[in-house]
Amino acid sequence: MSETIWKCPVCGGALQAEGLSLQCEKRHNFDRAKKGAVYLLPSHQKHSDIPGDNPEMVRARREFLGKGYYAHLRDTICDALRPVLQSGSVLLDAGCGEGYYTKGIHEMAQNSEIYGVDISKTAANLAAKADPTGHYAVASVFHLPVLDASCDAVVSIFAPYCGEEFQRVLKPDGIFVMAIPAARHLWELKAAVYDCPYENAVKDYALEEFQFLEKREAKREIDLTSTGDIQSLFGMTPYAYRTGAKERERLASLETLHVRTEFEVLIYRKENAHGI
Ligand SMILES: [Zn+2]
Repeated sequence: MSETIWKCPVCGGALQAEGLSLQCEKRHNFDRAKKGAVYLLPSHQKHSDIPGDNPEMVRARREFLGKGYYAHLRDTICDALRPVLQSGSVLLDAGCGEGYYTKGIHEMAQNSEIYGVDISKTAANLAAKADPTGHYAVASVFHLPVLDASCDAVVSIFAPYCGEEFQRVLKPDGIFVMAIPAARHLWELKAAVYDCPYENAVKDYALEEFQFLEKREAKREIDLTSTGDIQSLFGMTPYAYRTGAKERERLASLETLHVRTEFEVLIYRKENAHGI
């Protein structure tokens, strides 16, 4: 039996790992698929048959990220976490997707315990297969199956934000790292597709639950040389949901694209309960 930070979604007790299953003191049992993620999503938190990103989108993202186009963002996130993650430290990637960044963090901090959750079963299973010594679960970031004050760091990379939950699972003085697109991220892609492209709104960095420490930038221009990569990149953006036929046609006709990718990596500390 080995201890984990997973929390039983039925009774809230700590889950211990044994072989391919996890069990709490009350003997609620959760099996892990071979080389896969453990399923900790209760049915009432599942709002559709296939929650989260659909399998096709997940696979397109895996293929695109696997080519290293966003390696600069991964490296910037790793640099931010390097001083935080010591031997035995615990990190949670809340909304880890197919695990590109999670695996990168684990390769940088090999002696840390790395956890990831995603509500998409396809994504969480791909993440688990790519990082066999990491811990991955199918779960919601709004109801993390994670014990209170168990994490040294939480990261949220283009994933839904739930400050209350992130604060709950962090240890006192825990670090929260969030990646967001900068104002002109993918500008050339938007300019090629839309009549009136607009900049991303960059919000105030202040978060109620955390103390803002630092912002780092990750910028790089990339060259896409296939329609498939261009389509994959577009499919990863929020714009993919609100694009009409004319724009889709323009997108499909693009064979090459030189495009800037600009991210901001924001680093926070958990506010001390006494506000010190
Ligand atoms: Zn239980």
